[in-house]
Amino acid sequence: MRGIVTKSTGSWYQVMDDDGQNYECRIKGKFRTQGIKTTNPIAVGDFVEFELEPGQQSGVINTLLPRRNYIIRRSVNLSKQTQIIGANLDQAVLVVTLASPATSTGFIDRFLVTAEAYSIPAILVFNKLDLFSEEGLEILAEYMALYEGLGYPCYAVSALKGEHIQELQELLKDKTTLVSGHSGVGKSTLINAVVPGLELKTGIISEWSDKGKHTTTFAEMIMLPFGGKLIDTPGIRELGIVDIEPQELSHYFPEMRALMNQCKFHNCRHINEPGCAVLEALENGEIDPSRYDSYLSIYNNENNRK
Ligand code: GDP
Ligand code: ZN
Repeated sequence: MRGIVTKSTGSWYQVMDDDGQNYECRIKGKFRTQGIKTTNPIAVGDFVEFELEPGQQSGVINTLLPRRNYIIRRSVNLSKQTQIIGANLDQAVLVVTLASPATSTGFIDRFLVTAEAYSIPAILVFNKLDLFSEEGLEILAEYMALYEGLGYPCYAVSALKGEHIQELQELLKDKTTLVSGHSGVGKSTLINAVVPGLELKTGIISEWSDKGKHTTTFAEMIMLPFGGKLIDTPGIRELGIVDIEPQELSHYFPEMRALMNQCKFHNCRHINEPGCAVLEALENGEIDPSRYDSYLSIYNNENNRK
């Protein structure tokens, strides 16, 4: 039988067949993981083949079908732990807020770099629009102009008030979309607004307990009644980047990628080299300082890991 993985806990997987029937499946023994080493060999969004156990509604997954793409994350603290957070994606949405709590540009940029590295179109959704003062709206407009200018579509919504939700529904229709966001940005409230009748639990659930232990929150696929699939990922506090060499990092910043052939040195790191087109663009105000800060911070972080 063939199906799509709609939930993964690490020890068992929920698999849905073409008729919409769900089966609880396990994997047994050695499993071919297509050469990627992660804590979870199978992820939500994966297509698999499985065999039903006689007389049961449970089964054993025996084949992972080739993935079109996937996103992996690494915990910044526990850098040995990597996890595939979703597979076979059309796009990735990051829900952010400028206040209550504020998502840092560093976090946004890390997410965008990850999406670039895996060639998955990324979209930013600014939530809690109802909280904005006039001044706040101006700041929001600046953020949206910055990221739209880089090629990332931006939406401003209020999940609580149901404002601009229809635009999101149009964005999500007939696509497989990974949805991420810091705890507390209103991701669950937003998904509930997008999918009438769905009642995801809201209120802040943290990824790590007080003792720093992993709590049990799992990615889950939600079928959209108007067509399409969402992969809801548990509240992410950190997003580590996997498999990026520091010297290729600037490829994943569109504004730097555009200038790359103009630096004097072909292996320019864009840090302090003479004749660097990126540093020149930063001086001229053509590259946003917050984006460049994110570049440096990720560069140093990745470099120190080597
Ligand atoms: P999650 O951790 O990202 O899933 O966030 P939740 O959906 O649980 O929401 C966290 C808190 O933010 C809750 O108290 C929500 O009521 C609140 N919240 C969510 N969306 C909005 C919004 O659009 N405006 C306002 N003012 N509060 C919101
Ligand atoms: Zn340079």
